[in-house]
Amino acid sequence: MPASQGRVHVRVVVLGAGFGGLTFCQTFRFPGAEVTVVDRCNYHLFTPLLYQVATAGLSAPEIAQPIRSILSRHQHVTVLMDEAWRVDLVAMGLCLLHLQTRRPSHRLTHL
Ligand SMILES: Cc1cc2nc3c(=O)[nH]c(=O)nc-3n(C[C@H](O)[C@H](O)[C@H](O)COP(=O)(O)OP(=O)(O)OC[C@H]3O[C@@H](n4cnc5c(N)ncnc54)[C@H](O)[C@@H]3O)c2cc1C
Repeated sequence: MPASQGRVHVRVVVLGAGFGGLTFCQTFRFPGAEVTVVDRCNYHLFTPLLYQVATAGLSAPEIAQPIRSILSRHQHVTVLMDEAWRVDLVAMGLCLLHLQTRRPSHRLTHL
């Protein structure tokens, strides 16, 4: 949360665009805040309807919606598709893994 010219710049990392992460992104209000949501999937899965997919009552795309489209109206939110790997307490950052190569990709120093 660095301060510049007297204003506090809030940067938030949300791990996972499940029910919890999405609700946070949709309701969090702080002037000028930047929110980065990281998920290893590019879609949000509506788990309560998984049974209907398993019993062929619904098709899989009916319960999976792209995270970017759900959050498209929220200009302060950036969506990153990557896997959270570990928290680096020394550098105060979050280390992410590239999904295909399984190599470290980003380091978000937001903590
Ligand atoms: C079949 C089924 C039916 C259910 N029915 C109901 C119901 O009727 N009512 C109810 O209240 N609850 C129900 N639940 C429970 C409900 O789905 C969970 O309580 C809820 O999804 C938890 O929300 P969450 O945000 O904590 O995690 P989740 O919704 O599980 O989301 C976690 C997100 O984080 C991502 N993620 C996880 N690890 C990483 C990582 N290392 N790096 C990057 N991304 C990561 C995942 O891809 C996922 O998108 C049901 C669950 C299941 C499985």
